[in-house]
Amino acid sequence: MQIAVVGSGYVGLVAAACFAELGHNVLCVDNDPQKLAALQRGEVPIHEKFLPELLARHRDINLTFSGSLSKAVKESSVIFIAVGTPASESGEADLSYVEAVAREIAESLDGYKVIVEKSTVPVYTSEWVRKVMLLTGGPECEFDVVSNPEFLREGTAVTDFLYPDRIVIGADTERAAKILKEIYQPLTSGRYYQSKEAVSEPDGAKIPPPLLLTSAKSAELIKHASNAFLAMKISFINAVASVCEAVDADIEEVAKGIGSDTRIGSRFLQAGVGYGGSCFPKDVAAFRSVARECGYDFTLLNEVMRINEDQRQRFLRKVRTALWTLKGKRLAILGLAFKGGTDDVRESPAISIIQSLLTEKCSIVAYDPAATERAKPLINGAITYAENPYDAVDGADALLILTDWDEFAGLDLERIRKLLRYPIVVDGRNLYRRKEMERHGLMYISVGRPASKLEELASKTQQQLSS
Ligand code: NAD
Repeated sequence: MQIAVVGSGYVGLVAAACFAELGHNVLCVDNDPQKLAALQRGEVPIHEKFLPELLARHRDINLTFSGSLSKAVKESSVIFIAVGTPASESGEADLSYVEAVAREIAESLDGYKVIVEKSTVPVYTSEWVRKVMLLTGGPECEFDVVSNPEFLREGTAVTDFLYPDRIVIGADTERAAKILKEIYQPLTSGRYYQSKEAVSEPDGAKIPPPLLLTSAKSAELIKHASNAFLAMKISFINAVASVCEAVDADIEEVAKGIGSDTRIGSRFLQAGVGYGGSCFPKDVAAFRSVARECGYDFTLLNEVMRINEDQRQRFLRKVRTALWTLKGKRLAILGLAFKGGTDDVRESPAISIIQSLLTEKCSIVAYDPAATERAKPLINGAITYAENPYDAVDGADALLILTDWDEFAGLDLERIRKLLRYPIVVDGRNLYRRKEMERHGLMYISVGRPASKLEELASKTQQQLSS
């Protein structure tokens, strides 16, 4: 199949590489000249596991990059739109990029094409895309608009794409549905998984994945409702964590107890500093807006957002309680990305927490394994960037953990203790156990779990020293 993917960001580039991996001929289009040049030079612009391997395997064979959308339209029978749909000031999705692409596609149509929404868009967008295409290209335009939402997660995007929990195809005509089914056939038939070169299977993969055929409107709603539900799960467990803190219970034990119920499931029940990233915050807000426009006041989502914001404030209060005064304090921050495994810093809780700390006149030394360059333009003030966690911690008044990178869960705690000025660790991701930290003389404050008590820690340390 000849496929065009418009947008070579976190979704478009991964989708293009994975479609090539499934044997299709793919032309990936972007209008950012710098990104395009980097891709054409053979660079990999985002940090994503397995992406460099797939790009190296298919580039210039069945995967090429271009700045010309009209060329891509003419050469392809299916065009995936994977451009950004950021939040507007009022919380609605800004669909101007999608509209611009739809208009350009209509101008170049030279026969029947399937236009696929891969971007996350509100319900009714497929109808708007259809209208824009007809207004631009005229009534003789031959095309179908399909919604094929993407559920990949940054950090595991390639594996998520190739081993999806489900494939949703929202097509209102049989002709378009048949073409989309054919594109995913290497996955749904299981053929891809038999190949020796296939990207390795993750734990719990559904093979072959189910394909759900729906109307375009249902598919659009499935994506928004899924993200809203996941965000709600995170806010729910964070609210329970706050109750745990009030009664000295342990959220890890509580979450395990809740998540062991198969009706609930254990995923997305990790308490922390709240969700961030380019999807959940904007998708929850956009879903609330779209519901309101359709006449339903989805107030549950207001609370999901409020709890998420409150989680950052609670973290800042913990830092203030641990350190007393903040002005002039030097803080080591581990993590800038919105979660581990990615260099994406969009709506990262780490960035907003750092900005608040800088306003309170702290100085910060931050370390992130992949996201530093992307974070730099977003942060102004007394911040420097370290090459490794230990350089960040050297001479700091406290260590704050803000991203769940695997690397941060295996620190040499003895070394950390020696490097810190005050032995304080405030962990917004619950990567450690308090006893382990205290064994190394570190005062440990985390989310939804009892915190170290300084007097107890001091007397334990003195006992250790005298024995
Ligand atoms: P992104 O900002 O990383 O990438 C968008 C790309 O589109 C950019 O490279 C930009 O230059 C390009 N672009 C914009 N207008 C264009 C045009 N007219 N012609 C050609 N290229 C154009 O965004 P992303 O994170 O890949 O997200 C894309 C969509 O996918 C969004 O709707 C998002 O909500 C959705 N989504 C994202 C994720 C995720 O984890 N990032 C997961 C699922 C769905």
